[in-house]
Amino acid sequence: MKTILIILSLICSIPLVSACQQKATKKMEQNAKFNKLSDYEKKVILEKATDRPYTGEYTDNKKTGTYICRQCNNPLYESKDKFDSHCGWPSFDDEIKGSVKQIPDADGMRVEIVCNNCQGHLGHVFMGEGFTSKNTRHCVNSTSMVFVELGKDLPQVIK
Ligand SMILES: [Zn+2]
Repeated sequence: MKTILIILSLICSIPLVSACQQKATKKMEQNAKFNKLSDYEKKVILEKATDRPYTGEYTDNKKTGTYICRQCNNPLYESKDKFDSHCGWPSFDDEIKGSVKQIPDADGMRVEIVCNNCQGHLGHVFMGEGFTSKNTRHCVNSTSMVFVELGKDLPQVIK
């Protein structure tokens, strides 16, 4: 009888275990309507990881154009607001109005910035550093953005 009970409880616990595993992998999934992200892009945009400094493709990009959200195409920054902060990430002292949302970071110290349309993680914003006259530095992961050069069509924003 005892053996049967053990076997029964083992069988019953199997669906529970697999349900837990499904929940763990779900964390990486994104809303299917948005642009498909690679595993690394999901880590940055959905799980708020940070590109290693000086590794992002746009850190030293000096071309004229618009930086849009990689996940939803929302125009975030103009190249005219990009400046060289030597911090290792693309830096902007202004955003396209209404496109970037500031929220308190989970670390309790910094201010996180996210796309105002899809809530994807962009980076952090710092004030009072004196880099430019606007005294603001949006420190943005290259991975969170796609650069569209001036003259090329901006893709439609996915709402
Ligand atoms: Zn977005």
